[in-house]
Amino acid sequence: MSTDCLFCRIVEGSVPSTIVHETDSVLAFRDIDPQADTHILVIPKEHFPDAASMAAADPKLAGEVLAAAGEVAKIDGVDASGYRLVFNTGADANQTVFHAHCHVLGGRNLQWPPG
Ligand code: 5GP
Ligand code: ZN
Repeated sequence: MSTDCLFCRIVEGSVPSTIVHETDSVLAFRDIDPQADTHILVIPKEHFPDAASMAAADPKLAGEVLAAAGEVAKIDGVDASGYRLVFNTGADANQTVFHAHCHVLGGRNLQWPPG
């Protein structure tokens, strides 16, 4: 837990969120500024600054984040139509919250390449 981390505060419940799915190790909640009909963030409850550091420290947890991303895609009904998983990492990717998170985006045709 990092007291100055927004997503750690969401995990502890001091910042409200719309929770979609939860396990012992992972939390999924709706993005406050959705970029598609489905825009859910899947995070490890433990603090890691980005996805690569999470995977290096705890590969099982990284797998649980991916499995939860698949679950929330099913919950929102985009598993058949398709969806995109994004882990913005660092400045060039415009990462703004430095607690590892997987964006689950779906419900519309997503452009490629991304902007
Ligand atoms: P990043 O830019 O770091 O990949 O993604 C951070 C995401 O967190 C953004 O999509 C942003 O809209 C979302 N976000 C920022 N603050 C909050 C908040 O307080 N609650 C929720 N649910 N999402 C947030
Ligand atoms: Zn954190």
